[in-house]
Amino acid sequence: MIPVPGFEGRRIAVFGLGRSGLTAARALKAGGALPVLWDDSVSRRMQAEAEGFDVEDLTVADWSGFAALVLSPGAPLTHPKPHWTVDKARDAGVEIIGDIELFARALAALSEDERPRVVAITGTNGKSTTTALIGWVLKQAGLMVHVGGNIGIGVLALPAPAADAVYVIEVSSYQLDLTTSFAPDVAILTNISPDHLDRHGGMEGYVAAKARIFQAQGPDGVALIGVDESWGQGLAAKLNAVEVSTRIPSPVKGKGRVAAVYGIISIDGEIAADTRTARSLPGRHNAQNAAFAYAAARALGVSHDAAVEGLLSFPGLAHRMEEVGRLGRVRFINDSKATNADAARQALGSYERSFWIAGGRAKQGGIDDLEELFPRVVEAFLIGEAAGPFAARLGETPHRISGDMATAVQQAYEAAAATGRDEVVLLSPAAASFDQFPDFEARGEAFRAAVLGLGASPASAA
Ligand code: ADP
Repeated sequence: MIPVPGFEGRRIAVFGLGRSGLTAARALKAGGALPVLWDDSVSRRMQAEAEGFDVEDLTVADWSGFAALVLSPGAPLTHPKPHWTVDKARDAGVEIIGDIELFARALAALSEDERPRVVAITGTNGKSTTTALIGWVLKQAGLMVHVGGNIGIGVLALPAPAADAVYVIEVSSYQLDLTTSFAPDVAILTNISPDHLDRHGGMEGYVAAKARIFQAQGPDGVALIGVDESWGQGLAAKLNAVEVSTRIPSPVKGKGRVAAVYGIISIDGEIAADTRTARSLPGRHNAQNAAFAYAAARALGVSHDAAVEGLLSFPGLAHRMEEVGRLGRVRFINDSKATNADAARQALGSYERSFWIAGGRAKQGGIDDLEELFPRVVEAFLIGEAAGPFAARLGETPHRISGDMATAVQQAYEAAAATGRDEVVLLSPAAASFDQFPDFEARGEAFRAAVLGLGASPASAA
């Protein structure tokens, strides 16, 4: 755990007692603060009480006595409308922060020579892959690395700071909205496309939240921004950041500009690394992720050879274009993490032909943006709430409404096997999972179970 100093003997309101809220409360208590906890859920309140925390009804508390409100990233700060705790905090002039800000303050309280380094990653897609990849590369290079944040372990539950450690932290736009002084040594914005707009009041608010990852970086901070879309380009120009592109093979000289085209990473036009033979980095999007990881590792002093070796040996993450099995000439790919069209585009674009399982709870725009890839879809198998709208959008592209995952896997396999060629059954839903599953992991596991249920042999990790 990372104890948070700076609030010794002061009362701090903590709202939202999910994993990150409870962890924040523990870290505050360990630093000497007096956290006061609340949640709408009775069972969560009871859990907090059982752990010995002070649980008080924040609807009737005296807010003038709080030094801060630590808000769960699940509660809205601004849109669709501010959470009631936000109104109360504002009325009482109490600052509103989140766990990433507490982490930043815990590190800021250390002297320069005790302070570990921090790499932070945000973006619409590719956060988790880039975070895990950077963690892997740095570990392989022999550094002491702690990976967490929005992925895996909450940031304040990571091991206490040591001077030679590196924290590699995935941060969401919700978490960034609750920071003011977070100043990573290396900050990465992978890409931006419309997502979570309901929570940010539109695209401008979303881009502004993402940009906060750079706001407190000092002159020595390294900023890396994906510039394949206009929002990234605009930000990179404004912040004079290092641009990472997967589209421009011969980048302009002088800015340390990074390019990743067809798996070849170059810096300022000089070839730096060839990731085409990497174990688990298929597709253009992973070339981008690899470029970020290479640049981050180099910025932290990792040698060229060690960085390349780490990229090539990365074992990959579950539910992201993960091969889960094979049956005859059919390969099954689990890309359950593709919860929006932009993520699904990467997967569809990686295969010449696919038997595509899609659907769930549709995001704004549905699959409208994927039309150029429809010719690669031999047939689509649609599940969940979005099945009807996706079917309408697919038009002439062969498709059927399969309804649920098991049926979709069965039908897709039969159709793929019937061609007698090497084929791919691809789960890349382009929609959220919440209509049929608790989360994308459960959806991916349902896919895996259905695939193995057909008698497919599991893909070995190697
Ligand atoms: P996040 O944590 O941001 O949701 P993940 O690394 O879990 O991102 O990947 C989510 C999905 O996005 C995967 O299905 C993958 O196919 C796709 N993806 C991964 N990296 C990128 C990228 N750099 N650009 C666009 N899409 C990506």
